[in-house]
Order: sequence, then C-alpha cells, then structure tokens
Amino acid sequence: MSDQEIESLQGGCLCGQFRFTVDLDAKLKQEAQFCHCTMCRKMTNSQFWTCLSVPRQAFHVHDGCPPLKLYKSSDKAHRGFCTNCGSSLTWEPTDYPEYLDIGIGSLDHPEKVNVTSHLHVEGGMLPYDPTLPRFLRGPSGPQAP
Ligand SMILES: [Zn+2]
Ligand SMILES: [Zn+2]
Repeated sequence: MSDQEIESLQGGCLCGQFRFTVDLDAKLKQEAQFCHCTMCRKMTNSQFWTCLSVPRQAFHVHDGCPPLKLYKSSDKAHRGFCTNCGSSLTWEPTDYPEYLDIGIGSLDHPEKVNVTSHLHVEGGMLPYDPTLPRFLRGPSGPQAP
C-alpha cells in the first residue's frame, strides 16, 4: 500500500473540543455501514448510526484534545462521546482494542466514505423514504429541485 493511496480525513465533535484525523486507504473508504441496532439508534437519537471500523493506529487525536468520555454500553464495547457537547464519536470494542468504529457523521467530509451495508436489521429498519418532499433549508422555504 503506497502513501498515495492513503487519504487523511479530518473530523470532530459538534463543539470542536475533540478533533481527529483518520488515515484511510481506498478499500477502507468503501466499508462504512448503517447500524440499525437499538443501542446505536438510542445513542444517535436517529434511525441508525453510520459507522466505519478503522485500525486504532490510523486514528489520530489532535494534540491538546481532552479524551472522550467512555460509556460502557455492553460487555462488548464502550462508546465515546465529547464531555462538552455530548456528540457520539466512537464505538470501541473490548475484545479487539486494535480497532474502533468512528461515526461517519463526525467527518468534515463524510461524502468521501461510501456506505456499503446495513447491520443489525433483525428487528427491521425504521422507514426512510427518499422521495418525501425535500426543502433546501426549513419547511417554510423553497423545495429542493
Ligand atoms: Zn464537543
Ligand atoms: Zn449498532
């Protein structure tokens, strides 16, 4: 794997207290997933969490950032969140400490990563209809073309 194939993406929490760089090769950029498990739904307060498993050595916390608060969400993992704004950023497996999952929504340019599968759909997926009316901003403004 040559250095040219690695792209360093920046990300962080809502308030900016926690910032990171993650180094991704072309293959990893194709491996994000929608997780529909109850814990991810509750954690994100959304229909699903969009995550990417990365080697911990590829995840670089910027100098001076206070560490994430780790919440033990199960025997399998901790979930990391910003102590200031509460943004959920990581899923950190207990049995595989050399990896962690990052939330794609925390990237400054999440469009650089492709989602290629759905996880934990045994309980079904909450409905998502991309054909619903779309507004450029709020519902009193113009619709998207
Ligand atoms: Zn924050
Ligand atoms: Zn999940």
